[in-house]
Amino acid sequence: MSDRGPVVSHIGVAVTDLASALAFYRDVLGLEPGSPESADGATIVSLPLGETQIELLVPESPQSPVARFLARRGPGIHHICLRVQNLDQALARCRAWGYQLVDQVPRAGAGGHRVAFLHPRSTAGILLELTE
Ligand code: ZN
Repeated sequence: MSDRGPVVSHIGVAVTDLASALAFYRDVLGLEPGSPESADGATIVSLPLGETQIELLVPESPQSPVARFLARRGPGIHHICLRVQNLDQALARCRAWGYQLVDQVPRAGAGGHRVAFLHPRSTAGILLELTE
């Protein structure tokens, strides 16, 4: 990656019904869904959208974080993922500035990429995922 700043990697959208979500993103907009993956108790289907992606999240169990989000807020934007140059450095900076981390250290997210989440309490109600 060049030395530009963070970019939007993807936008995670929580849905209850994958088929009706795909009817919009795939059939109406013509985006090409990737193969479904599994992470954090959710089935994830990514659709490339220019240099970013829409990530559809469907809960696999009622206890999963996405299921709890849906129960509380209904379908909608679940998180925004920003790609940074150096994830460890970005986390250290967030910690130093007092931002609340969900993940103290990076872990494997969808596609095996290293990710870490910031708590929405720290970030104006938006669950932010950082990746590199
Ligand atoms: Zn994500």
